[in-house]
Amino acid sequence: MINDTIAAISTAIGQGAISIVRLSGNDAIDIVNKIYKGKDLTKVKSHTVHYGHIVYNKKQIDEVLVSVFRAPKTFTTEDIIEINCHGGVFVANKILEIVLTNGARMSNPGEFTERAFLNGRIDLTQAEAVMDIIEAKSDLSLSLANKGLDGVIYRMVQNLRNELLSTIAHIEVNIDYPEYDDVIELSNKIVLPNIEHLIIKIKTLLEKANYGKIIKDGLKTAIIGRPNVGKSSLLNALLREDKAIVTEIQGTTRDIVEGRINIGGIILNLIDTAGIRESSDIVEIIGIEKAKKVINEAELILFVLDNNIKITSEDEILLDLTKNKKRIVILNKSDLSKANEIEFDNSVEISALNKTGIDDLENKIQSMFLTGELNLEDATYISNARHIAKLNDTLGSLQDSVIAIHNEMPIDMVELDLKTAWHTLGEIIGDTSSTSLLDELFTKFCLGK
Ligand code: GDP
Repeated sequence: MINDTIAAISTAIGQGAISIVRLSGNDAIDIVNKIYKGKDLTKVKSHTVHYGHIVYNKKQIDEVLVSVFRAPKTFTTEDIIEINCHGGVFVANKILEIVLTNGARMSNPGEFTERAFLNGRIDLTQAEAVMDIIEAKSDLSLSLANKGLDGVIYRMVQNLRNELLSTIAHIEVNIDYPEYDDVIELSNKIVLPNIEHLIIKIKTLLEKANYGKIIKDGLKTAIIGRPNVGKSSLLNALLREDKAIVTEIQGTTRDIVEGRINIGGIILNLIDTAGIRESSDIVEIIGIEKAKKVINEAELILFVLDNNIKITSEDEILLDLTKNKKRIVILNKSDLSKANEIEFDNSVEISALNKTGIDDLENKIQSMFLTGELNLEDATYISNARHIAKLNDTLGSLQDSVIAIHNEMPIDMVELDLKTAWHTLGEIIGDTSSTSLLDELFTKFCLGK
């Protein structure tokens, strides 16, 4: 059991309307009660808010609102106090300092959430979802994070574990009370189909995890094209604001706009927007190697062509460099006459100048990356890199067990692989996690969370 009481400033450090100093632990209420002038906090009901003052050494420190949450129905399942004070860096720190002098301990990053986990209120995937909510950058990633917080990932993993466990139990029972004379018969009739079923399930989860990752982290996107085709104009149209300067004269746009745009729910993380502004032959200026590097790094290429001009050799070089990437060819300047009648796998006609065709581009991006039976309303995809890695490990162990069966290895060898898989799945939800993993995980959280 955790005995000490932790405290931290839970709001961002900086000047604002309100700062919150939060405490969690057995002594939280007593500690604050000592420095609070107002109602006796030890006597108030749980989940109530009280007006009063923080007074220390007979000096009034701040006018505050104190929220009292009694165990066990709290975030950490412990007594929690939140002091809403005025949002000044000095005053919030002062209150934290007083709380610490009166018996609380400064919390580590993420320690409140860690306690929620250690006290069994949430599993590890839910703890990670808290972080995902804080970091969410779009409606989709937010709803994905909320699913995680609701325990969707937890239940998915538990279902897999239960299935695995019943197969392990089958083997155990048979080792103790052989129902089958022949172990090979048991392996082939019962164990193998079960494992194969699980393998299919995990493979499907991993395939869909790709969507999850895109929804959560977005796509690294490069806008590529030779000078004057309309890259800056496209960027502006996408940003829906004139951050980049567009000019008639080649090469006067030199400001770097690096940014993140939300296209129909998908986050595009723009890389090397500086390259967009190069004043003459892009390949010559930034170098073929650099161009290759940017292209290589990108998960999506928005390739801009000026469709009012016949394709040039420079266009051809860039088209060739990007041909193996996920690419959308943007036939720009559709307000002018068409100079080319060429077909590309993925292309859209737009006028960056008039901002027409942008919706088609959005739809194209969506259909390229979020295809198939994807249901955005019911997004239950695994998106966390740690979960994906563990699922891959689980898959590996299950595949090992299939090989063991095919090689007619002793059934307890097969069982060993299955137990490893069960253990690895447990690591996703924190059932079988090591302390070092937990330490590493929770330090990624912000202080006071
Ligand atoms: P970049 O060098 O590729 O970034 O190209 P810019 O965005 O700076 O555009 C070059 C020139 O083409 C500017 O004069 C733009 O106004 C013009 N331009 C860009 N998009 C369009 C378009 O859709 N239609 C027309 N008519 N002109 C455009």
